[in-house]
Amino acid sequence: MILVNEPDLGGNELKYLQECIETNWISSEGPFVKRFEANFAQRVGRQHGMAVVNGSVAIDLALEALGIGEGDEVIVPTFTIISPVASIVKLGAKPVLIDSDLGSWNMDVNQIEAKITSKTKAIIVVHIYGLAVNMKPILELAKKHGLKIVEDAAEMHGQECHGKACGSFGDISTFSFYPNKHITTGEGGMIVCDDDELAQKVQSLRNLCFNRERRFKHYELGTNARFTNLQAAVGLAQLERLDEFVERKRKMGTYYLNALQDLQSVHLPTSTTDYCDNIFWVFGLILKKGTSFQTEDVVKQLADKGINTRPFFYPMHQQPVFQKMGLFINEQYPVAEFMAENGFYIPSGLNLTEEQMKTVSEALLEILE
Ligand SMILES: *Cc1c(COP(=O)(O)O)cnc(C)c1O
Repeated sequence: MILVNEPDLGGNELKYLQECIETNWISSEGPFVKRFEANFAQRVGRQHGMAVVNGSVAIDLALEALGIGEGDEVIVPTFTIISPVASIVKLGAKPVLIDSDLGSWNMDVNQIEAKITSKTKAIIVVHIYGLAVNMKPILELAKKHGLKIVEDAAEMHGQECHGKACGSFGDISTFSFYPNKHITTGEGGMIVCDDDELAQKVQSLRNLCFNRERRFKHYELGTNARFTNLQAAVGLAQLERLDEFVERKRKMGTYYLNALQDLQSVHLPTSTTDYCDNIFWVFGLILKKGTSFQTEDVVKQLADKGINTRPFFYPMHQQPVFQKMGLFINEQYPVAEFMAENGFYIPSGLNLTEEQMKTVSEALLEILE
């Protein structure tokens, strides 16, 4: 079986982990945590880096630290993982959805302004699959309407927009270190920002809102979202190789684009725009309208050949859980619906060999020609 993803743990991971065990530092108080946070924040060009248990909780805490709550509206793409929308709903705020753009697969930035009301507090930018969202128009909108920007950069380690690191644009930005991301810590996430007060809020929220005056006496409610020294050991080693990983992913993307360029029946990822070059977090394909092929059938034929795939995200406005809550009733976002129905991604992990990419490409050509 050729897997959709496998991490590369062949650097200093084992050495740093051994150091944790030998020194007995395995908790969140261990020295690797601060080092990893500092190195990560520096890499993204931010003042503060705060590691947490995963990328979903990172978004929860980011929104809570910004004070998002009941009565607020937050703009977010409908084509995304559920995490950002779940965070909004759990805080009692209202998610306001934006359809996708078929060129970039990101939210269509031209549709944002029409959705801004007097209740809008923030825009969550989710960079999808490898191409960054064009941040320029979003920064302008945020400034014009006094909105906060939250950047979900879970899929964007090492990516840039207008020559600046993804994760450097949000008032607060978040990352995930799940094993399918460019760098992993097994489970894990990071929140970055520049504002000292905001950073302090996040630090308090992730650590049960303990206070300095008297431990175990609380003035606010927080959660335990602390990150361990073991995770930070792996993260530090992974971060050392981020440039190499990004280069490898770009090579993979270029290989697939060349191999599949003659396929008339699919939309391939856009490799470059005037604000960024794709880093191909995953390599997706979308079957075009009017082709005789069915996604389910193509995916099954690939599986029969030992090739692992994953479907695209499922749009937020069609989620049973939100429908049940009375959200997004009768809302339609045709581009996101089309992408979700016809999109899937093929093996695109860091350990993929050229031989495997050849096997995958040839299988696709055979099935789709
Ligand atoms: C992976 C991912 C997350 C969630 O991160 P976890 O660490 O799995 O909780 C959030 N947003 C996006 C865009 C992601 O790709």
